[in-house]
Amino acid sequence: MHLAQRIRSVAPSATLAVSAAAKAMKARGETVFDLSIGQPDFTTPAVINQAAVAAIESGAASFYTPAAGLPALKAAIAAHIHAQTGVTYEPKQLVVTTGAKMALYSLFQVLLDPGDEVLIPIPGWVSYVEQVRLAGGVPRPVQSLAHFKVTVDDLEANRTAKTRAVIINSPSNPTGVVYTKAELTLIGNWALRHDILVVADDIYRDLLFNGTTYHSIIEIDPQITQNTVLISGASKSYAMTGWRIGYAAGPAKLIGAMSTLLGHATGNPTAVAQYAAIEAFGNPAVDATVESMRQAFEDRLNTVYPLVQQVPGFELPEKPQGAFYLFPNVRRAAVLTHHKTVDDFIAALLAETGVAMVPGRAFGMPDHARLSYAAAKPVLVEALGRIQAFVAQN
Ligand code: PMP
Ligand code: GLU
Repeated sequence: MHLAQRIRSVAPSATLAVSAAAKAMKARGETVFDLSIGQPDFTTPAVINQAAVAAIESGAASFYTPAAGLPALKAAIAAHIHAQTGVTYEPKQLVVTTGAKMALYSLFQVLLDPGDEVLIPIPGWVSYVEQVRLAGGVPRPVQSLAHFKVTVDDLEANRTAKTRAVIINSPSNPTGVVYTKAELTLIGNWALRHDILVVADDIYRDLLFNGTTYHSIIEIDPQITQNTVLISGASKSYAMTGWRIGYAAGPAKLIGAMSTLLGHATGNPTAVAQYAAIEAFGNPAVDATVESMRQAFEDRLNTVYPLVQQVPGFELPEKPQGAFYLFPNVRRAAVLTHHKTVDDFIAALLAETGVAMVPGRAFGMPDHARLSYAAAKPVLVEALGRIQAFVAQN
């Protein structure tokens, strides 16, 4: 069977693959401690579910909506962004998508000509590289040498005449680091000077811990805002990964092009999910639930971070500030347990202890492992105990 060139070199999503493997083990009756997938383990807040049920029962959810999303949802998202950042987006500057994944995918489709380059800070989320490739672009990994954050010097060293965009993901998947306002200002001005679009993936912005202050790059300077596409969605903040609602906000020309593309690709995101999302973004009563989930993640971070530091051969000198991931260097643990590679170590850990983590290779750093702490505290504590015992006994 012939397959098109464009898909042949694309690797399947490692996060989804490890999570599927963990689920399959569970289905076989094995005990699994799943620290692989990055999604809240909470269910969607009840008022959001009720809004969805009402949209089904009234019949509203039966029909197509505008491909770029329901006007009421766009209004709720715009008001939400304004409340968080002070930035105003017009309806034509906003498109609702089937998850933030589709926002990024369609952005690269309309932005990149063959050979155009996108600067991707490493470590970075698995799908950026492949999405850029699928659009005919060239991903340029930029190693973040200091504290998992790229600087203007790192970016400048990788800039070419073909550099079209830079991705800034704060808080970051897989490291949980958060860029400061000063760092974002330097990056934003550098991008502006060189006519490079900033792709600000702020999807974890509601998950900040231990008093961390947050600034989105869109709120620093109006010129930087105009040179930025904001990517976010409902998945992480509202425990709505399965509903698949994301969005992009930015220059009307780009957003219009994305809407055109989506009109031929997905059409509108599922109507019932959009009605649910109106409630998520628009009902202030949801904020208390969002805050209680944030507190639970904070408590887990504060529990699990010292446990990770205690595992022989796991190195993670700085405590993450956001998202729900830990990204230790585990090279020494692999050596201690007589594994040639970290990938082998992670595979053995899953087979022998039932603890699932994602290999750092998927994020561009093969000596690391990603642990998601979006799991119940007893699961986390047991998983870390098992990892510790596995390393100690070998
Ligand atoms: N960006 C980052 C950094 C992510 O980790 C994810 C994974 N959920 C996404 C975007 C996409 O999220 P979704 O498609 O669920 O909205
Ligand atoms: N973004 C989450 C993760 O990194 C969900 C899976 C995915 O879409 O990659 O685990």
